[in-house]
Amino acid sequence: MPMNRVQFQKGLSLGEFIERYGTQEACERELEAMRWPRGFACPSCGSRQYSNFQRGRLLYYQCCECRHQASLIAGTVMASSKVALKVWFQAAYVLSQAKNNVSALELMRHLGVCYQTAWSLKHKLMEAMWVRERTRTLRGTVQVDEAFLGGQSSGPASRGRKGKVAFLAAVSQAPDGKAERVCLSKQPATGEDVVVFCLNTLAPGTLVVSDGAPSFNYTRWNQIAEHEPIVTGGGKQACEIPQLKAVNTVLGNLKTAITGTYHALKFAKYTDRYLAEYQFRFNRRFDMHSQMQRIIRAAVGCKPNPLPSLRMAEVRR
Ligand SMILES: [Zn+2]
Repeated sequence: MPMNRVQFQKGLSLGEFIERYGTQEACERELEAMRWPRGFACPSCGSRQYSNFQRGRLLYYQCCECRHQASLIAGTVMASSKVALKVWFQAAYVLSQAKNNVSALELMRHLGVCYQTAWSLKHKLMEAMWVRERTRTLRGTVQVDEAFLGGQSSGPASRGRKGKVAFLAAVSQAPDGKAERVCLSKQPATGEDVVVFCLNTLAPGTLVVSDGAPSFNYTRWNQIAEHEPIVTGGGKQACEIPQLKAVNTVLGNLKTAITGTYHALKFAKYTDRYLAEYQFRFNRRFDMHSQMQRIIRAAVGCKPNPLPSLRMAEVRR
């Protein structure tokens, strides 16, 4: 059997991680390089003259012109955090190198922090991944399907199953027919929702392939993409249709990664974030070595999101 390119890649070993990011200073240097690749520039007046000082655990930069003070994490999703910078890096490392998603409880044990801290770290990093991925566009041939997650694990497999959350998956197809990139979105799959999702996600000229479900039978298709509906028989047979194989493979793996990790999942409330975590990692799956760094970079690019608004979850969408 040929070796799977994703599964057998080396990733970032624990030894290498400790060597590169094992100290607070090393993490500070990395973050400084990400935030100000050409050196510190005062966010208030733009001056490059500054001095450093330490307050508590944090390294600050003070502008020599206007005396503005900025910490390394100010203006990022890590802002105001009492957690040491190296623990943020450790959290990103754990989330990036695991095969499936990692729960807040698991993160708590890995990092030696309390559950509340682990939950906050995880959700802030997932929020950063959501922000990073929300502008992603797919092109070429894209397979689109609807799926359900969360809720009760028993009972009839109908759409009305209690607590289930409907979402849409769009998977662009590589030349060899395999999945290339994915976009996921929590949305009940009515025809109008499908159109909104596709307008946000697909580049002009995309060929969309979907099954013959009524939600994909929409008259406005020609405004957004070329559409090729595939009539399937439903059930297992539908999952094996070659034209929809890529999206069905991704959905199968996604269900393992998410339902295998979160048992008491408040899926409906935080669906966007859980899906974004999967999407972010899937779209960077060929480079596990740099995934941890890319999560930190996403955290740097994400605005502060204090715990109360983080808990309100989808309200702002
Ligand atoms: Zn200044």
